[in-house]
Amino acid sequence: MSVAYRTVCADCRLEAPPLGGDGYVGYPSASERSFDPEDDGLSTFGSIYLGLEAIGMTTLEYDAYLSFLKSHEGHSVRVLSENDADPWETDPGSSAAYRGPSESGQSASGYIRGHFELRCYECRRRRWTEDPDLARERGELEVSASRMQLFVERVMSNFDGDFHDSEPFGFGALELVAGFLERHRGHRVVSTITLAEKGERGAS
Ligand SMILES: [Zn+2]
Ligand SMILES: [Zn+2]
Repeated sequence: MSVAYRTVCADCRLEAPPLGGDGYVGYPSASERSFDPEDDGLSTFGSIYLGLEAIGMTTLEYDAYLSFLKSHEGHSVRVLSENDADPWETDPGSSAAYRGPSESGQSASGYIRGHFELRCYECRRRRWTEDPDLARERGELEVSASRMQLFVERVMSNFDGDFHDSEPFGFGALELVAGFLERHRGHRVVSTITLAEKGERGAS
């Protein structure tokens, strides 16, 4: 059974926008350093984001979560599991819950609901994620060797430790993408966001 998590800023008493429902990804810091020395080996969210951005695989949720971390840099931001006691419960005078994430949410304008797709021009093969997600509308991105490398280092190297019920483009998407990139290493590969269904643009 999976445990539900939420990210909060204890200083502002604000809850971060959710990542894939109830999951969390890495250590809640926008820092782009690979690992946070204050935690036991979790990559920082900022570092993971960098690897996703390198191949164009960021989503609205990931963008909104990163903005939250950036605007609460230096505050006491933590990931709480549903089993953790609410830190305010012990203080009856301030028992108010964290304010919900909606007001800090990112606008969905400029985003489309689509599948993350990879194409290899040399092998003429295409693969796309089973699930769509809300991602920034954009053209083709050339996934160069250095971009692939950044993705492998920052996203896949600590995959089991960093990702908890929250992958961009749904469960299994990252391993599918990593597998494709591995098979087409050194080839000319591009990524795109392919509309899930025509007419579904600009979902709110
Ligand atoms: Zn804060
Ligand atoms: Zn290929």
